[in-house]
Amino acid sequence: MRIPRFCIFCVIAVVSLILAACSKAEPSSAHSAEPERTELARAEPTRVEFVLDTVCSVTLFDGAKDSIYRDIFGRLREIENHMSPYIEGSDISRVNAAAGKAPVQVHDDTFKVIERAVYFAGLSNGAFDPTVGPLVSLWGITGDHPRVPSRAEIDAVLRLINWRDIELNKEQRSVFLKRPGMALDLGAIAKGYAADEVQAIIEKAGLKRAIIDLGGNVSTYGEKTDKSPWKVGVQDPLKERNDYIGIVQGPAQTVVTSGVYERFFIGPDGVRYHHIFNPSTGYPTNNGFLSVSIITGCSMDADALSTAVFVLGYEKGRALVESLKGIEAVFIFDDKSVRKTKGANFILTDKDYRLVDERGY
Ligand code: AMP
Ligand code: MG
Repeated sequence: MRIPRFCIFCVIAVVSLILAACSKAEPSSAHSAEPERTELARAEPTRVEFVLDTVCSVTLFDGAKDSIYRDIFGRLREIENHMSPYIEGSDISRVNAAAGKAPVQVHDDTFKVIERAVYFAGLSNGAFDPTVGPLVSLWGITGDHPRVPSRAEIDAVLRLINWRDIELNKEQRSVFLKRPGMALDLGAIAKGYAADEVQAIIEKAGLKRAIIDLGGNVSTYGEKTDKSPWKVGVQDPLKERNDYIGIVQGPAQTVVTSGVYERFFIGPDGVRYHHIFNPSTGYPTNNGFLSVSIITGCSMDADALSTAVFVLGYEKGRALVESLKGIEAVFIFDDKSVRKTKGANFILTDKDYRLVDERGY
């Protein structure tokens, strides 16, 4: 979940992008974003903190109290303290250190997220694999010194990556990685879980509406005052700041994007190496996708799925999304084409891109 400093800027850009999507008038008058501007005027100022190794912003409306913001960011820090592999003594650090040796008891929330991660690993046939830890470390993609490893180094760590070697014991709430050297990385799912937890706090506090943006995992909550649909911007994966290619419209829901722009470095060969690995090759996934956005109700599921679908590629990824109820997707490709599933209420606003309607949607 760590991001190199040079990429922090990109993340901040994503956050401002989303807010921009809520306040900037769209080119098409048919889809004016004016309601969001009114809505934001009713909000407490957005609170932004760096947690979960990303920029997290929460906007509460209608006179929300300071204490609610404190509870929210306190919970985010708690989740980070349990699930970050970079914090000494976190559940994940302890599980990783005990790989091949002994099961480790973890907090309820960590167990829940690992259970769900294992579920999505099975569902995606290992495209999403929470045991990618050794690969993430080898490439150093989330640290300050990323590098392109040798084939031999990659082959050596690939042997350590297999979600089937995670042993879960529900009664003991313990997690065991069967082989020494294995390591969990929940970077592709933990932020989604955290967004759901923030939403639960907001709901419990009785607030009527909110916008939660955890490093690009955006959830809208409740109804707008004028009952018009929420609008969430989908980042232009080729631009670095405040630029969105279109808008997802709808009732309160979550829009989670996995993209090449989130964390990456440019190798000595001039190639852009990003952070979403194909666990079968050991390299950053290279299948024509620039980004995949998942639209649904549960942010944890959307987070896992955005990564899974990104790695699976268009045909298999789309088939997976279409096999699930209440899940929609927007796919952006490196030839600037955009595709979406039938129920995705996505409006393309950027003329540089083109929506391909190959299935008549
Ligand atoms: P996301 O932005 O949600 O797609 O998550 C990407 C992050 O998840 C990376 O920074 C890694 O920490 C981790 N990750 C990379 N590749 C995978 C994968 N194939 N399966 C699960 N987690 C991954
Ligand atoms: Mg994800």
